[in-house]
Amino acid sequence: PSPNTRAQELYRRAEKVMPGGVTRIVPWQPPYPPYAERGEGGYIIDVDGTRRLDLVNNFSSMIHGHAHPEIVRAVQDQVALGTAFSMPTASEVDLAEAISQRTPNIEWLRFSNSGSEAVMCAIKAARALTGRPKIVKIEGAYHGSYDFAEVSLDSTPANWGQEPQSIGYSAGVPDGVRENVIVVPFNDPDAARRIIRGERDHIAGILIDVTPSYLGYVSMTEEFARTMQDLAREIGAALILDEVISYRMDHGGAQRLYGLEPDFTVLGKIIGGGFPIGAVGGPRSAMTVFDHRDGKPLLPWSGTFTANPISMVAGKVSLDLLTQHSIERINGLGETFRIGLSRIFEETGYDAQVTGIASSFKISGHRRPISDYRSSYSTPGEHGRVARLQEELLQLGYYVAYRGHGFFTTVNTPDEVDGLLAACRTAISRI
Ligand code: PMP
Repeated sequence: PSPNTRAQELYRRAEKVMPGGVTRIVPWQPPYPPYAERGEGGYIIDVDGTRRLDLVNNFSSMIHGHAHPEIVRAVQDQVALGTAFSMPTASEVDLAEAISQRTPNIEWLRFSNSGSEAVMCAIKAARALTGRPKIVKIEGAYHGSYDFAEVSLDSTPANWGQEPQSIGYSAGVPDGVRENVIVVPFNDPDAARRIIRGERDHIAGILIDVTPSYLGYVSMTEEFARTMQDLAREIGAALILDEVISYRMDHGGAQRLYGLEPDFTVLGKIIGGGFPIGAVGGPRSAMTVFDHRDGKPLLPWSGTFTANPISMVAGKVSLDLLTQHSIERINGLGETFRIGLSRIFEETGYDAQVTGIASSFKISGHRRPISDYRSSYSTPGEHGRVARLQEELLQLGYYVAYRGHGFFTTVNTPDEVDGLLAACRTAISRI
């Protein structure tokens, strides 16, 4: 960014009122981030008037791009009618029905305000259902900001042991948190069997994501997914499937693709049509922990803005627009981009790779095959290689996340993917 821009001015003010000048770390980039002014379909126009194709799409939540006319209309109508009531509304019934129809394993569901909150809710539900304390998670997998779900995030080679370690994410994480989280490596069924069976009587839930963002959206093998479900059944623990991102992979979510029947599914992002949302759903046998009709439920759950009608109506329109055909189309754009960019890295010798599944991608600044957290790990220099590319793309009119993440949406076209690939080639030649 050039000096004396409006973004720089905003950042100077922001530094005085927010730690590091932002209220969310991921979108920050040095020396300061571009500031969005408005969105138009696939594009963001920033406060300095630059228009760029947005490949971040609020980290995958804007699956129909920005300000989709049908979503805008539904929200405008609802705003005029009131934005939050303590009474339930028809809008929550509509969205719950829509989700349950797409994903029949979700018979009952409860809404929350974010994916993090929904992950927390699912973990508490697994504990309530089993009366046990511990959860199992995949090494390095991100599930939002609940301290149990954060264990093992961002661990570095210096603290890797032979087996995945239960490492607190931030300073001051209580031992009680670490002791109650068991970490297993991704896609290693033998290790999972050994580690999980060793703790079988203490495990409440097994938390998985079939395409973890921190592992470059590489996909879980069907064997590993099946093993995790079988292990959960074998030891009497709940299977918790985090579909906050993977729900975009198929009309019925990743669980339909994998044939999984989780006890608790966690949803977020796209089911809110661009507004804050989260949800936990599953078969009645598991979701009954929330049912209060016979007195205090095993897990009381509430929230002031839960199922607010703005998120509900936006989510309903968003899911209605997201047909199987449109999903297959954007998955195809993802595939075209990943193949094209891999070829460009090959031809130019730029030391990087692109991974991903369906409509997602992640650029990493090294060529080692990525199969789990440890092989996905990048050194600061390798992150720098992605950052250089990202900064050049920003100049060329394309917004990819600073760490190389991106998602295609239903408003993107094959021409835009071609344009992005051409820009990647130009960016590399400039580096
Ligand atoms: N789970 C996964 C897989 C996620 O990617 C995220 C957010 N990126 C979350 C949970 C947390 O969702 P939220 O940011 O809405 O709290």
